[in-house]
Amino acid sequence: TTSAATVTITGAAGQIGYATVFRAAAGALLGSETPVRLRLLEIPEAVRAAEGVAMELLDGAMPLLESVDVFDDPTAAFDGAEVGLLIGARPRSKGMERADLLSANASIFSVQGRAINEAAAPAFRAVVVGNPANTNALIAASHAPDVPAERFTALTRLDHHRAEAQLAIACGVSVNDVDGVAIWGNHSTSQYVDLTRATVRGRPAEEVLLEHGHDRRWIDEFFIPKVAKRGAEIIEVRGGSSVASAAHATLRHIRTWLRGTPEGSWASMAVPSTGIHGVPEGVVCSFPVTCSQGRYTIVEPWAIADFSRARIDRSVAELLAEREAVEALDLL
Ligand code: NDP
Repeated sequence: TTSAATVTITGAAGQIGYATVFRAAAGALLGSETPVRLRLLEIPEAVRAAEGVAMELLDGAMPLLESVDVFDDPTAAFDGAEVGLLIGARPRSKGMERADLLSANASIFSVQGRAINEAAAPAFRAVVVGNPANTNALIAASHAPDVPAERFTALTRLDHHRAEAQLAIACGVSVNDVDGVAIWGNHSTSQYVDLTRATVRGRPAEEVLLEHGHDRRWIDEFFIPKVAKRGAEIIEVRGGSSVASAAHATLRHIRTWLRGTPEGSWASMAVPSTGIHGVPEGVVCSFPVTCSQGRYTIVEPWAIADFSRARIDRSVAELLAEREAVEALDLL
């Protein structure tokens, strides 16, 4: 075993948090060699529930779980944190305007950004799950001036997994046979699910889809909306939002970042743009990325087809509007 790592999980008493903490304590985040110290952050009203979660973790007698502590103070919660899973967020309540949602979350993520700046370990890395995830990551980064902004990322791995699974189903193959899907833009229904570089058993996915009777129009009118609206479909069928699949994607996001992507393959992560691919610098946008030795690299630009370009631009426009809205509220 290696030395223990400190992981701070916010919203730990919520649904995704509950599903995440157990697997993080069982090795799914950092591997079965690395013991973990979990620090759970909750709002005061949910601290008691988080203590219940901590009790259950103890009841698991989990060999890799070195300690578990519960906090309602962000600075204490992020003390020494090497990994932050920022899951907790203010949900949209009935009658709440978009600006109210942005501002409620901007206050949460600005406080957490400052706490991270003050207390986290130098190696700190974060994935934001709580929505609006991309903009929340931007806000946290802007309040943590001493932490490199590229350490604040947001989750689009669930969208990436959904695209892989749906592509495999459409081609009648296993997910192990598909590769190269990419999610661009915002973690919202404006996201662009890109199959132009995807492969099925090493062949261009669009070619294989065509053999199954699915043309470019099917990709546009059926496949892309299917992936983008999968969350709503889960709510309708399961009677509740995606929880275990979101927790799984959160764990995979960090694991890939730390452990790397397989040679020739990539994952999707929302990361601050370097100005690459025509996306304005600083905007937290989903890109295909390769990871190696704890660093991610946005894949080099390729000749993006016009129809892809328009869709990427549309989602980026939404991100820019969110950024302007928080700027207008003086929260950046
Ligand atoms: P969930 O655990 O179901 O969801 C948590 C967040 O993840 C929401 O913002 C949700 O967005 C988001 N999310 C992102 N991607 C997905 C996805 N693909 N599917 C589903 N959700 C997704 O919410 P709960 O209400 O159960 O739990 C939230 C917890 O956070 C509560 O315990 C609350 O007390 C806590 N909290 C903690 C804070 C803190 O630690 N400072 C601050 C605020 C809240 P969406 O709403 O759009 O589905």
